[in-house]
Amino acid sequence: MLKIENLHYTYEDGTPALNGIDLEIAQGEFLAILGANGSGKSTLIKHLNGLYHPTLGRVLLDGKPIERVEDKEIFSRIGIVFQDPNDQLFASTVEEDVAFGPTNMGLGPEEVKERVHRALHLVEMQDYGRKAIHALSHGQKKRICVAGVLAMEPQVIILDEPTAGLDPVSVHSLMHLLEDLNKKERITMIMATHVVDLVPLFMSRIAILHKGQVLRFGSPEEVFADPQAIEKAQLHLPLVAELMHVLKSKDHVKLHHIPLTVGEARREILRLLSVQEMISRV
Ligand code: ADP
Ligand code: MG
Repeated sequence: MLKIENLHYTYEDGTPALNGIDLEIAQGEFLAILGANGSGKSTLIKHLNGLYHPTLGRVLLDGKPIERVEDKEIFSRIGIVFQDPNDQLFASTVEEDVAFGPTNMGLGPEEVKERVHRALHLVEMQDYGRKAIHALSHGQKKRICVAGVLAMEPQVIILDEPTAGLDPVSVHSLMHLLEDLNKKERITMIMATHVVDLVPLFMSRIAILHKGQVLRFGSPEEVFADPQAIEKAQLHLPLVAELMHVLKSKDHVKLHHIPLTVGEARREILRLLSVQEMISRV
């Protein structure tokens, strides 16, 4: 659906932020763009809806260079949630803000009302329609940003560090919402983050960004099987994987594979315990 070819981008002050990115994003997937601060995540994202123009290379939407796709089509198909909700929200009330996109698409007032209602429901903010934007908490503002994008009924939602500044409960409820939208509504999700522990729980594929290049690309199992690459990217392994690596390399525990989540680790530990028990019975 989205294809990025040899993408380079240098800022006006000479900073080479992207240095040859190749990436293909298929419909329906949940892709993590994982990278340390300054690795180029935000710069990459701004190319995916035509906001930035590549210094070299190109972005294709269904095979067509994105600069040749009309703005209106891009904005109705690809929704972006920026890192700071204050960059995104500008109407005075929640309803007005969520209505902005669909109204601009030229939809009639009934349809707009319907979409606003539906979007607020999806993010569980249906009781906040009349609330002033400035009176919302940071986490609520983030949900309204997601609602604003949902009201456009896009095929792709791109989120830039959506969990930044949220408490742990809000992080998980936002991630579960994104997972639902991906699985039930079939919306393609692309999420930039540096929070490695979230990735194996929710994402099907990962692109590790380092100095404006894709250092690794693959499933969480593939990507996290390479601790050296993770270190080079100034990231760390998911904590569960770190523990399992130590058990394997230092304590010579015979693991079948390196679990990445608590659930997988639990299964592996129970398996090992049952083997132990069988040995002790013999
Ligand atoms: P990330 O989102 O992964 O933290 P960014 O895409 O924001 O990374 O930044 C990539 C690189 O581009 C960094 O070196 C950063 O300092 C630089 N950069 C970002 N925005 C600008 C800008 N407006 N002008 C100059 N350099 C920038
Ligand atoms: Mg960023």
